Amino acid sequence: MIFVTGHHQYANEPKGIKAVLTERGLYQPQLRGKCENKCNVDATNCCNKRILELQEDFRE
Ligand SMILES: [Zn+2]
Repeated sequence: MIFVTGHHQYANEPKGIKAVLTERGLYQPQLRGKCENKCNVDATNCCNKRILELQEDFRE
């Protein structure tokens, strides 16, 4: 996972997906951490990794 350089809080700081999502109130305990294969491009909540990727500051 790549963190946006310059982000005041997470810049270059490896942090667990669960920790980040929990901080944002987005963590979905009923979902898996990440899909075994690539996420479906249309999926928005297939896994917690996907939810994180869809956050604006985590988009490439
Ligand atoms: Zn997924």
